[in-house]
Amino acid sequence: MKTRIYRLLMVLGCLLMVCQPVASAAQWYTLRVDKGNHPPQPVMDEVYLSIRMTGDLFTRYKLILPEIVTIRVTTTADSYARALSYYLKSSPAQASQLAKLSAGVSTHAYPLVILNGQYSNQFISTLPHEMFHQAQRQLANIVQVPTWLTEGSAELFGKLALHQANRGVYSQYIRGVKMRLRQAGTLPNVRQVVSNWDAMFKQGQGGVIYNMATLMVWYLADQQGFEGVVYYYQLIHQGVAVDEAFLNAFHVTPSLFYQDFEVKLPQLLQL
Ligand SMILES: [Zn+2]
Repeated sequence: MKTRIYRLLMVLGCLLMVCQPVASAAQWYTLRVDKGNHPPQPVMDEVYLSIRMTGDLFTRYKLILPEIVTIRVTTTADSYARALSYYLKSSPAQASQLAKLSAGVSTHAYPLVILNGQYSNQFISTLPHEMFHQAQRQLANIVQVPTWLTEGSAELFGKLALHQANRGVYSQYIRGVKMRLRQAGTLPNVRQVVSNWDAMFKQGQGGVIYNMATLMVWYLADQQGFEGVVYYYQLIHQGVAVDEAFLNAFHVTPSLFYQDFEVKLPQLLQL
């Protein structure tokens, strides 16, 4: 009898050991869909693929989120607009306008990303972009970090995911960013992008400033990896002041970086 109980305990022990790592690896998100109007299978296929790519990047860069993020997938533009009104407190007019343009959002107040089922072809870069905003929100006070760095790093994270999913090559996406900046003609100077983000966005210069920010973070991260960016947010999470974290992670002060980037920009755009 004793042997049988011992054997049973051994089997239970082994089962627990097998089950545990699988359970903990899957715990960075939960998924929610519209009640009574489930998104079609092709939409869900893109959701699962983008979740997998985001998870792969989180593992590669050793990003661990303190809170589980809810990924809310809406089926129609209307249910997306309703979710925006509810969680972002957008006015109905603002929400329905956004539902026409945006593939997804990350909410600042909750561990929540909302995806617009109408734009599932963009999920593979949208979900990693928005999930990186969740990492920023959870690791660092997003308000203290300059917006160009917040948005530029989320953009790069999305491009790394596209590469990971075999939907293009990272270096080609960067070439695309440079091409769009060349085509934009006269560019704003770096200081304007750094201190006037919101005003420039409202003036319709969103395209130019997002591309500038992406190139700035790419240059800051030594034109290849993303480790420095993750390290920067981890330092802030540990209580290091924002400018000191910048110096530690990127080995340059913010103002010297702005000067350097301004000088190098014409040359970078030619390569
Ligand atoms: Zn963003």
